[in-house]
Amino acid sequence: MAFADNQIKEIITLLATPKKIVITTHYSPDGDAMGSSLGLYNYLIQSNHQVTVVTPNDYPKFIHWMPGDENVKNFEKNSKICENLISSSDVIFCLDYNALKRIEKLEPLVKIAAAKKILIYHHQQPELFADYTFSFPETCSTSQLIFEFIDALGDADKVNKDVATCLYTGIMTDTGSFRFASVKPLTHYITAKLLETGIQHDLIHGKIMDSNSYERMKLVGYALSQKLVYLSEFQAAYISLDQNDLDQYSFQPGDAEGLVNYGLSIAGVKIAAFFSEKKGEVKISFRSKGEIDVNKFARQYFNGGGHQHAAGGKTTETLEATI
Ligand code: 5GP
Ligand code: MN
Repeated sequence: MAFADNQIKEIITLLATPKKIVITTHYSPDGDAMGSSLGLYNYLIQSNHQVTVVTPNDYPKFIHWMPGDENVKNFEKNSKICENLISSSDVIFCLDYNALKRIEKLEPLVKIAAAKKILIYHHQQPELFADYTFSFPETCSTSQLIFEFIDALGDADKVNKDVATCLYTGIMTDTGSFRFASVKPLTHYITAKLLETGIQHDLIHGKIMDSNSYERMKLVGYALSQKLVYLSEFQAAYISLDQNDLDQYSFQPGDAEGLVNYGLSIAGVKIAAFFSEKKGEVKISFRSKGEIDVNKFARQYFNGGGHQHAAGGKTTETLEATI
């Protein structure tokens, strides 16, 4: 895989003079969404561009600390500012999402913006709305692609400690700490380059993995002991949490992160789901192993998508009906 030379040449020309740039990422940003966005941000600000990361909504505490985080604008809190930034921008980056509906209320703003749009994504089936679409389903994370993108622009020397901290966080979180099949030799090669900048990867792992609240640990215990359903005949397992459950454990965004993986960790399980109820909507996460394609499944039945082994979707049915 490689970024096409002719397109990269055009982007080098586009970014040769300072520009107003907005970086957008998907609703409920995860580690890769914020890592790739802030990694790119910390790279672009070195060339005197005016850069803002705009998120559709807030994101969990465990990824709310990367360099540049204090300058991120959350649309739900700063609608007017975000609207102005988007409409007056020269360039909009669309990171870690494949379709405009994934940025929710930002969709109409990005859609009509006159800016050049550059999409960088690492799963299947990107919608073709951008001027430049770089989508590489073989790559583990958008953060890895941002490294490759910066390298293709001839700026590998601008991957400083701040850029590296963000990209490392994104790669690490989207690969389950470097364990998924999506991790390739190139992933480790790039990670080595990031480590050479002097980042403290042990501290990054600590911030991501060891930042549980007491309530969150109690929620995990409750989910495992009371709400985990194992369907051995289907090699399937799921956990569901209703609004009462979430309230009882003072649910915070991010508290449910990774719960779906417990089902998948039962020996023999090939497909796992996690259902959570929120404001008349049920959000579902799917994970699978081997041949089972949860992307297809989520697209077909749950107005969602993702990739073969990790996908999500939602319904407006009741929790019971959805299950
Ligand atoms: P998660 O279960 O961690 O929320 O999402 C896993 C993957 O599925 C994400 O990386 C994302 O690509 C995809 N995904 C999650 N929710 C949705 C959704 O509602 N729509 C689409 N198209 N993809 C989703
Ligand atoms: Mn990602």
